[in-house]
Amino acid sequence: MSLINELENLRNYFERGATLSADFRIEQLKKLKQSILEYEYELYQALYTDLKKNKEETWVTETGMVISELNTALRKIKSWMRPEKVRTNLLNLPSSSRILREPLGVLLIIGPWNYPFQLLINPLIGAIAAGNCVVLKPSEFAPATDVVMKKIIESVFPKEYILYVQGEGQQVIPQMMNAFRFDHVFYTGSTAVGKIIYKMAAEKVVPVTLELGGKSPCVVDADANLKVAARRIAMTKFSNAGQMCVAPDYVLVHQSVKQPFVDAMQETIHQFFGDKPEENYNYGKMISEKQFDRVVKYLSEGNIIKGGRIDRAKLFIEPSLLDNIAPDAAVMQDEIFGPVLPILTFADMKEAKSIINKHPNPLAFYIYTASTANAKSWLQNIPAGGACINNSSWHLTNHHLPFGGRGFSGTGNYHGKYSFETFSHKKAVMQTPTWFDPSIKYPPLKGRLKLFKRIIK
Ligand code: NAD
Repeated sequence: MSLINELENLRNYFERGATLSADFRIEQLKKLKQSILEYEYELYQALYTDLKKNKEETWVTETGMVISELNTALRKIKSWMRPEKVRTNLLNLPSSSRILREPLGVLLIIGPWNYPFQLLINPLIGAIAAGNCVVLKPSEFAPATDVVMKKIIESVFPKEYILYVQGEGQQVIPQMMNAFRFDHVFYTGSTAVGKIIYKMAAEKVVPVTLELGGKSPCVVDADANLKVAARRIAMTKFSNAGQMCVAPDYVLVHQSVKQPFVDAMQETIHQFFGDKPEENYNYGKMISEKQFDRVVKYLSEGNIIKGGRIDRAKLFIEPSLLDNIAPDAAVMQDEIFGPVLPILTFADMKEAKSIINKHPNPLAFYIYTASTANAKSWLQNIPAGGACINNSSWHLTNHHLPFGGRGFSGTGNYHGKYSFETFSHKKAVMQTPTWFDPSIKYPPLKGRLKLFKRIIK
């Protein structure tokens, strides 16, 4: 059967109304959970093969995060689906008003390679909870995880409900999007490909959620607890070998505390990953030679104050700190997406802002400071998709918060209830009784302006 015929089958399945009931959705979420747990150990192996992720990290950032999202959806789905009563304005009384959450239809979810499981399956949970049919397109660059995810999906879902489509994105995605009108496209990946997806969607006026990347700045102010800052920054920057969309891209440290901060970072990196990070259980690898070669180039764009060793055969880049970087160097223009951390200094907020604003609206912004008022001021001054105070990246794991970017770092958001909202249409419904039908609403209207002004103001 051709791919396009398979997409038509999803449309037919959706239109038969099978996905509408809460019971159906709950059953599918339970099946998904069961299937993930059955393949838990295969997932550990696959993520180790693709990214050298250890089991513990895999649980926190991939499998466990998805199971937690599933549990939330299972607990909350009935309340999310309930019609929402809202007030009715004077003009329309005695009508009553409510908002219904309707499924969108057939969705396309496109995943990247860096958290290949979590970033494909987490949006799927919201999509199922909201009653949609889904095409899942994993990244071709995490092939071991791709194989296991295919088994997880195909062992429990018929293809006319959830279709798993493998292949090269640049070939298979235009093929689908040009021949078929999806009701929503949810894309996670680079801004460059996000623009291509957005253009294709615009041709058919398809709404999109774009979860993109960018340079997320991390400010360490003069009053910060430097030891804690170093631990939290090193943890999130070098987790998954820096291949994390919300990793601190670079650090802006107040000039008065640069040296003690660098000392704390050096010590922390050594504590976490030892003398030989390439052999350390806690440290990952680059996904591919292409990504390895791209990131290695950044090492020559500054003064290496820690790390710098590489091994192409192992796709290994040591956790590295750089300073003395020229402002126009590529490492300060591109999203780094690897274990290289530039450390820049600033004298005051104005100077820091001028550096950050070269890449406005980052996916995330991190501020380390002991002062609540100072943190508030930084937050007000730096627009970003999300933010942490005295922390980095972890906001992503709290499903009570919406996760998404703004500007070039993306549009739309998801996680927990926000996923359900993203994949639902809010249908506005007004219900009007027939026992009251004042003639004042009907023509002839002449002479009623004063009265209308009293009612509508
Ligand atoms: P990638 O290369 O795997 O691409 C992502 C998806 O796009 C894949 O499924 C791929 O098949 C598809 N694709 C690639 N080229 C295409 C084309 N020309 N046309 C249509 N589809 C195409 O992953 P990536 O883009 O390298 O991922 C890394 C980027 O993703 C980074 O910029 C990172 O910041 C961002 N990211 C963002 C988030 C987020 O939640 N905001 C999460 C993870 C990664």
